[in-house]
Amino acid sequence: MALKVVLLSHSPDPERSVATAARNCYSPRDVETIDENWTPGEVEAMVSRVRDAGHLSTFEHTMFTFGVSGVSRALTHQLVRHRHMSYEQKSQRYIKVKGQFDFITPPSMTGRPEIVAKYEALMAQISEFYAEALAAGVPAEDARFALPNAAETQIVITANARALLDFFTLRSCNNAQWEIRELAFAMLRLSKRAAPSLFVRAGATCVRGYCNEPNGPECPRYVAVRNPVAVRRRAGLTEDGPERANPDIVADRQTAALAG
Ligand SMILES: Cc1cc2nc3c(=O)[nH]c(=O)nc-3n(C[C@H](O)[C@H](O)[C@H](O)COP(=O)(O)OP(=O)(O)OC[C@H]3O[C@@H](n4cnc5c(N)ncnc54)[C@H](O)[C@@H]3O)c2cc1C
Repeated sequence: MALKVVLLSHSPDPERSVATAARNCYSPRDVETIDENWTPGEVEAMVSRVRDAGHLSTFEHTMFTFGVSGVSRALTHQLVRHRHMSYEQKSQRYIKVKGQFDFITPPSMTGRPEIVAKYEALMAQISEFYAEALAAGVPAEDARFALPNAAETQIVITANARALLDFFTLRSCNNAQWEIRELAFAMLRLSKRAAPSLFVRAGATCVRGYCNEPNGPECPRYVAVRNPVAVRRRAGLTEDGPERANPDIVADRQTAALAG
């Protein structure tokens, strides 16, 4: 199954929730009235103000819940390192796999028929062992020890907008692993549609004009940003050296995701 990401729910008016939290800091209004009489323009102006000032605790007052399927356990293992998001993952203890378990095949394998054939044979062998272990009385919580990182899974993610911004910074970067990057792009697209002004500058740091990655110069987006001198020096580039031409930039996935 291919990656599927749906926005299951979000705070009723995410941008207004942020603006209202911010208004509490800057307005003499009583708490009963801080959420009253917003115009769309005022909400936009307040969101821009706190966003540009880096007053991002205001972004924590709005929540988004995503349903994700068609991803590997290799992905979810990385995902759950993001400690400010909440997760519920399909259990390998309570759900016994029947027949061949579903698994993800990385694109780097799909173009190599011999590798794919061996990979699929290995998955079939693991599946056979798993079924044999269950049949012998091994509980599912132990039979699953044989299941690989490739095993397909399903996960629900809930996060506030600030945690999402952090996640997008790290995982939509071209330096992130391909599968979690695809997930980040999909979540970014959905988030931007739901709350454009919260996520207008969301994405890898290059969206905001800099790159801290040591191997940044290898990235097709690197030429599109003004880079810190230290990174350029480390990469053996002069501070004012010519930038490489980048005809692929318009087709770049990051750019496409940011366009919504
Ligand atoms: C390209 C890439 C490669 C990676 N490679 C590896 C790897 O090889 N091995 C590996 O183990 N991990 C790896 N990671 C995972 C990485 O180390 C982080 O665990 C993950 O990116 C989550 O980042 P975070 O801790 O900043 O995020 P979060 O947990 O979402 O935290 C967000 C921010 O909150 C603050 N924060 C959260 N918890 C604490 C705390 N306890 N104390 C102080 N401040 C806190 C920090 O400012 C943090 O940046 C990799 C990540 C990326 C993007």
